[in-house]
Amino acid sequence: MEKTPLRLSLIENAFDSLNESLGYVEKAHTDATRWKFAVLNLVHAVELVLKQRLFDEHELLLWENVDRPGKTVSLETALARLQSIRVGIEPKDLLAIQTAIRWRNNITHYEVDLVAEEVRENYLLIFEFLDGFHDQHFEGSLSEKIRDDYVQTAMDLVESFQKEFIEFRGRSMHRKWPSRLLAAQAIVSVSLEETEFARIAWGAEARWSEEWMAGYSPKEFCKDCACAIGDLHGPYCNQEECPQCGGQFLGCECEFDASELWALDDPAREAATRIRLAVEANLIEPALRAFIDFSDYLSTVSEASEADIPEPESTGSAGWDAALAAVVDYWLSRAGLPKPDWLDGESRFAAEPESPHLGKYDLAPDHLSVPPEFFRRNVLIEISTLQST
Ligand SMILES: [Zn+2]
Ligand SMILES: [Zn+2]
Repeated sequence: MEKTPLRLSLIENAFDSLNESLGYVEKAHTDATRWKFAVLNLVHAVELVLKQRLFDEHELLLWENVDRPGKTVSLETALARLQSIRVGIEPKDLLAIQTAIRWRNNITHYEVDLVAEEVRENYLLIFEFLDGFHDQHFEGSLSEKIRDDYVQTAMDLVESFQKEFIEFRGRSMHRKWPSRLLAAQAIVSVSLEETEFARIAWGAEARWSEEWMAGYSPKEFCKDCACAIGDLHGPYCNQEECPQCGGQFLGCECEFDASELWALDDPAREAATRIRLAVEANLIEPALRAFIDFSDYLSTVSEASEADIPEPESTGSAGWDAALAAVVDYWLSRAGLPKPDWLDGESRFAAEPESPHLGKYDLAPDHLSVPPEFFRRNVLIEISTLQST
């Protein structure tokens, strides 16, 4: 391929945007509001790299309208075009990019603090994709294009991506915790015999005004779940006060009705709940993300006691219900562990072939890449979907 000025400007601009982005990541250490510029620049870098790949395939592919070159393709079109020229983008990468597109479109709404943790996690996913895509389609390594003074920042990013635990509010936490905390905070009440009880926020407990607590006051963050003062606690926090009896919510005898709150610490139920909410909202991406998180969790299961996974409720989608059984079957088979009976239940087999994880940009899955645990349940999900790292 001839090196035209256009070619140079695309890929070189991608590297500039990446460096710009890393500069903002550095600034975000002390000022979380900088994340938004870090994200905008990173998404721009992704867009340029994808366009470069299209251009290298055929220069006309760069244009939104190939008959009338003028306006270059949007990121969304670039993705669709790459798929149609069989440059496979893995589901988890697609997810990261779609998240990035959404952010770019809503970026002004991003707040600091807890959300910054979420932004950071997704930033890492996109960064990892960019690095992998560059490796696969371009010469040299992306790291060579990173300015010397940002190399450390980039290395720290990659390293923290591999870490299961992150520093959060001065504590070491599993990297999925901030999003679970956020999910729990969205559940503001629990019910018992048709009465709704508002959950009690950290710091608002009755005990602080009791005599025996004189001289004590709540700390800035809950010592168990790390929620901020004035916010609701995370799932199964041992500091939460019961709104009915005033005892410890985790240990008291009050028999509250089933709540999504309780699903947040049971990986299968958590996945089913997240998928159901996504299905109800007609969204694929968060459902797939929940599915991949569940698959990641299952890949770590190695003891028979952990393999006794309780059956999750229906997601409202026959395809996802069967997929959840299939993924449990898949990982427990690999670990050589006994399987729970519900995997063979009728609702865990789809009547028609289903690919609930696919959206309009995706090609039909290649049947040969569908593991047998999925295939026999009529769920066409490729093996690559199950491996997020
Ligand atoms: Zn707490
Ligand atoms: Zn109680």
